[in-house]
Amino acid sequence: MTALLMAEQLHKTYGPTVALAGADLAVHAGEVVSVMGPSGSGKSTLLHCAAGLIRPDAGRVIYAGQALAELGDVRLSAVRRREFGFVFQFGQLVPELTALQNVALPLRLDGVPRRTAERRAAGLMDRLGLADRARSRPGQLSGGQQQRIAVARALVTGPKVIFADEPTGALDSVTGEQVMDMLTDAARESGAAVVLVTHDARVAAYADRGVVVRDGRSASRAGAR
Ligand code: ADP
Ligand code: ADP
Repeated sequence: MTALLMAEQLHKTYGPTVALAGADLAVHAGEVVSVMGPSGSGKSTLLHCAAGLIRPDAGRVIYAGQALAELGDVRLSAVRRREFGFVFQFGQLVPELTALQNVALPLRLDGVPRRTAERRAAGLMDRLGLADRARSRPGQLSGGQQQRIAVARALVTGPKVIFADEPTGALDSVTGEQVMDMLTDAARESGAAVVLVTHDARVAAYADRGVVVRDGRSASRAGAR
């Protein structure tokens, strides 16, 4: 079966720094793939290229049969908004908005009217057991609760791929496990694939399969589940 998302031979430099030197990644529909490797090895750069957040200097990213490089900025950003979800380490919720408004935000940015967006966000929060937090603002929530809200926000558009860059990096291990359980259960239920950048082997154990990035190149690694 062809992969839903394929990154082939990506190269990226930042001035004198070589971040990627021929990195690959293949993600099939619905699977959880971990990206591990030492700090500075190029994991985040690989994720950002695969997600169309930055353009590689060379190599190509194919999503659903389409080369991202061939899309203009407007179409690329529409693919990111509608087909991809993002979870980062922390500091990603808008502090002035309630949890519900944060979850509804990707729909609002995609032009969905407020009432419809908030109704959908509320339904999702309900299913994820977050309904009692809907009116809280991020500052009133624990780190783990904030990360669950961020996961809900990543899921609200019904993405095909969720990109998670060290999603538990700011959490203690018990809270991190709860967030990973929720993220992977919700992704499996909705059929979304997950690309999981982490240096924590316990987090990588949630993946079906993994790649290891070293010096900007990837090698495959057997999954733990
Ligand atoms: P990892 O996620 O594995 O820690 P990164 O992809 O963040 O690795 O970084 C790979 C290399 O590229 C590192 O040397 C890093 O310092 C460098 N790098 C990443 N992003 C930038 C940037 N925006 N500007 C300059 N150098 C960068
Ligand atoms: P890292 O900690 O790996 O460096 P950052 O959180 O700084 O990652 O984000 C890296 C890039 O991802 C930035 O270019 C930023 O614009 C983009 N980004 C961050 N958060 C989001 C988000 N929630 N949705 C879409 N893009 C985001």
